[in-house]
Amino acid sequence: MKFDDPYVMTIGGRPVAGAATFDVVNPATEVVIARAPDADRGQLDAAVNAARTAFPGWAATPIDARRAALDRLGDAVLANIDGFKRLLTAEQGKPHGDAEMEVGGAGMWLKGAATLELPVTVNEDSPDRYSETRHVPIGVVGAIAPWNFPMILAMFKVGPALLAGNTMVLKPSPFTPLTTLKFGELAADILPPGVLNVVSGGDALGPWMTEHPGIDKVSFTGSTATGRRVMQSASATLKRVTLELGGNDPAIVMPDVDVEKVAEELFWAAFRNNGQICIATKRLYVHKHIYEPLKAAIVAYAKTVKVGDGADQGTQIGPINNKPQYDRVLDLIQDARANGYQFLLGGETPDVPGYFIPITILDNPPESSRIVQEEQFGPVLPLLKFDDVDEVVARANATDYGLGGSVWSKDEDRALKIAARIASGTVWINETQHLTPMAAFGGMKQSGVGVEGGVEGLLEYTNTQTIVRRRSTMHA
Ligand code: NAD
Repeated sequence: MKFDDPYVMTIGGRPVAGAATFDVVNPATEVVIARAPDADRGQLDAAVNAARTAFPGWAATPIDARRAALDRLGDAVLANIDGFKRLLTAEQGKPHGDAEMEVGGAGMWLKGAATLELPVTVNEDSPDRYSETRHVPIGVVGAIAPWNFPMILAMFKVGPALLAGNTMVLKPSPFTPLTTLKFGELAADILPPGVLNVVSGGDALGPWMTEHPGIDKVSFTGSTATGRRVMQSASATLKRVTLELGGNDPAIVMPDVDVEKVAEELFWAAFRNNGQICIATKRLYVHKHIYEPLKAAIVAYAKTVKVGDGADQGTQIGPINNKPQYDRVLDLIQDARANGYQFLLGGETPDVPGYFIPITILDNPPESSRIVQEEQFGPVLPLLKFDDVDEVVARANATDYGLGGSVWSKDEDRALKIAARIASGTVWINETQHLTPMAAFGGMKQSGVGVEGGVEGLLEYTNTQTIVRRRSTMHA
């Protein structure tokens, strides 16, 4: 597999150039590294038609054959880890080590999702009748992915949707289309034509997909603001939707933790992938008894972390992925500065090429501040002091978001009681961000609708059908 030009879409199993092209920029250098295909409406129609044409055959393919194909696809991703990794760093900015973890995770996700089983429920098995509920594929899935983890978040969708017997039109973010386009080429060698189509394009392409009458379900990962637009647009044709949206995850650190040990873990909970993770720790609530030592330990560790071009050896944090996001994060920093909040680290922006923002840590800004209330999605973390559990739970839950959260304590029972009170789709105890294809993941409140992962996520790619059989003996 070659990872350089040309970058083409995959429609009906064939490589297709865009009606036009758009530039893809390396965020570490601001240099244009490729021109990606810019699909027009006719090309989206062609991709949807290809998926519709492939649907009956794929849905009728025995599930174990679909399973085997997805497993092979996972192997093919793993066999090309080096090429994908380099391309991912170039378009996304993340360090090579993180890129390798993402690509490896993407391959493993496909293989893991391929082992899931579709449940059948027997509702009644009596002399009078036999009734069972099963799950059948929906049709054509329109999958829309963001730029922070372009590969693995696409696989969250590809694995279960195809296993359940659907076909797909997959669209990456215009900021990170290249790895997904190459994945489409790879898949064309393994899957029947039309089962997985990959299209790329500008800002119009997503809305064309969500309103397209030939798409039966939209699976979307991105911001809450866009999620609202997706749901509104999908309502015209009553498409099924799964929405994986933004978060503002709290971490609650109890006074019994080993401060030195958790400092590094908490740092990475917030700053891994440069803070551009939906389930990054975005508000760090620290008990007042350990606030000062933990603050000192986190800041000391942060000073050892190397920020730079993800392609350079030793880089631990890369640039922000794109200019609009860079400007959003700078705006939050500017707001904090204008309000006189205390910076423990960062706050200045070096005048260098690339969308680099230094690691920025704020000392106990007000709960009402923008940096606490909004999703920063970048390398800026507010440390917040708390006194008692009821108070911190109330503060943690005082948000429209409800994606993830974590509780840190040596007392597992106590942590569990606190975790159960956090209104979010996932709560971790003494860790964060552990996801698997076998467990449901999704947001409460405005962090999403539905889930991905696990049997629950698989079922989102199905229609539920109950078949009731009156026993033939009744006619005798
Ligand atoms: P975004 O909403 O700007 O874009 C996401 C995708 O939607 C892109 O492919 C984009 O081209 C497309 N899009 C944009 N407008 C559209 C429209 N009107 N209709 C249809 N598609 C449209 O999000 P982003 O900036 O790429 O990603 C960052 C956000 O994603 C953050 O809020 C983050 O928390 C969230 N996120 C959530 C999860 C999760 O699983 N819950 C995972 C990763 C990221």
